[in-house]
Amino acid sequence: MSFSKNDLETIKSKIKLSSEIGKKTKIIKKGNDHWCCCPFHDEKTPSCKINDDLGSFYCFGCGAKGDIFTIYTDLYNFSFPDAVKELGQRIGIKITDNNFKLDKKSEKYFEILECATDWFEKNLQLNDDCIKYLKKRSISNQTISDFRIGYSDNPKFKIYEYLKTKNFSEDEIVESNLVKRDNNNKIKDFFYKRLIFPISNERGKVVGFGGRVLDNSMPKYINSPESIFFKKRDILYNLHSARNSIRQKKNMLICEGYMDVISLYDKNIKTAVAPLGTALTENQLLLSWKYVNKPTIMFDGDNSGLKASLKAALISLPLLSTNKYLQFIKLPNNFDPDSFIKVYSIRNLINLLKNPISIVEFIFDRSSEAIDLTKADNKIQYDKYLDDITSNIKDNKIKYFYKNEFKNLFFNKLKNLNKKNIKFTPKEQINSLIEMQIFSFLATYLNHVSVREELGKLIKNSQLLDEEKLDFLNYFENSVLKSADIEVLIKSNLPEQIRETLKKSMENGIFTLFPYAQKQYNSLDALEEVQESVKNLNTRLLNLKKINKSLNEMTDSTSNLNWDELKKISADLYIDTEDKI
Ligand SMILES: [Zn+2]
Repeated sequence: MSFSKNDLETIKSKIKLSSEIGKKTKIIKKGNDHWCCCPFHDEKTPSCKINDDLGSFYCFGCGAKGDIFTIYTDLYNFSFPDAVKELGQRIGIKITDNNFKLDKKSEKYFEILECATDWFEKNLQLNDDCIKYLKKRSISNQTISDFRIGYSDNPKFKIYEYLKTKNFSEDEIVESNLVKRDNNNKIKDFFYKRLIFPISNERGKVVGFGGRVLDNSMPKYINSPESIFFKKRDILYNLHSARNSIRQKKNMLICEGYMDVISLYDKNIKTAVAPLGTALTENQLLLSWKYVNKPTIMFDGDNSGLKASLKAALISLPLLSTNKYLQFIKLPNNFDPDSFIKVYSIRNLINLLKNPISIVEFIFDRSSEAIDLTKADNKIQYDKYLDDITSNIKDNKIKYFYKNEFKNLFFNKLKNLNKKNIKFTPKEQINSLIEMQIFSFLATYLNHVSVREELGKLIKNSQLLDEEKLDFLNYFENSVLKSADIEVLIKSNLPEQIRETLKKSMENGIFTLFPYAQKQYNSLDALEEVQESVKNLNTRLLNLKKINKSLNEMTDSTSNLNWDELKKISADLYIDTEDKI
């Protein structure tokens, strides 16, 4: 849509922004400036500044900014052309829309897709298999209706016939991409026996659909074909619905697929979005930065998820600036957000989310495990790899600091290589996470003296301790150190085995994953967290036994990337960039 710049400026100058925002929230005048509580996030004291001369606003709390048109598009959900027309009408000017024809056409397209979305939603209620599938994934009815999940087939009609009854012409229906012509020029449904996920653009209009099979047939997902209305590389699934939560929480979680977004939403994590297909594009990254400075990538913990994360990291490098970053969550091997929550509980996912990995660490960890750095030639190759990567960063300050950080990490890694290097197989890794949580109980016991007695009883009764940990607790219970502070314990003369267990309990990694074990955490809250965790862990261990069997079948494919794969990823990206230039 394009409008003359003049018209837009006239609207901005004729309508006072503060009075317009004043319709929604109270305006406070301080000196020459106007302030208000931000209409885009919850707050009690005003942090949104309005400049009537420039016709713009900026929120110091959540970073929301814009002008009168932003208020109409983002707060009142107008499309941009509609906002311009509405405001133009109000001040009595005739708007020249240079793209009126395309506009008419897109209106029709949106109308058909909206109609189809309704129809798909109703079909879902007629199909037991769909309901069963969604129940199995524990998706609530509310979530099904919030995401407008549907089903492609109806016992009575084909979608083409249905849309005909709604008075759309054949051309319009074909152009909507809901049907396709086969080799004999016969019109057929595009989606066949698929669960349907409507995909909205940034303004909340349905512009396409994702379709998932209910059984194991391939391809698992298909999307509506590309068109001028549906450009997959420009869209993030669920962005429109999530944007207010994203602004409020100042966080955006970028997951791999529709079902991740939906199941997180169902567990009350409402800031998740997903690219349409696994790789994150440059445009999607730029789009995410419109809403937050530091989006978080949380793809699956398998090999393809790792590859896609690394790709996103590398794509972002040339685009980074001093307030536009990216961060990462690494799920354990072969877990997606949904299965992680099932096995480890939502609490532990939230703990993971509180401790994201920086882009430098992420790239370094993923790439350095792909190559055997004990060999001299490999060291040289890897050093060059890091140089090549950093040379893609355009911002000089970031380039300087990232380069240094890469070198530090590399140096430390080489230094530590001589020390014992334990590689976990996937199965051990999972057990070790549970093991870490059990150690976190001991750490809590050590750090929170005021509730130590209760904690001791609780943990001993949990059935989760092995002999080593039971001995550990018994030792302190019968010792003069019973109520001594952790600092005192560390300095005390402890038996070898007890000191060993104490060291393991106080590992940094444990505090990152289980913050309640930290000393500065409120002791009563910590006690409550441990109570809850003991309960959950027992349930989880039961679940784990059930899924262990299927997991064992997957352990053959380790999720580490290999060096050739890694080089190919950067080579592919490099060639992509060349093409663009
Ligand atoms: Zn705000």
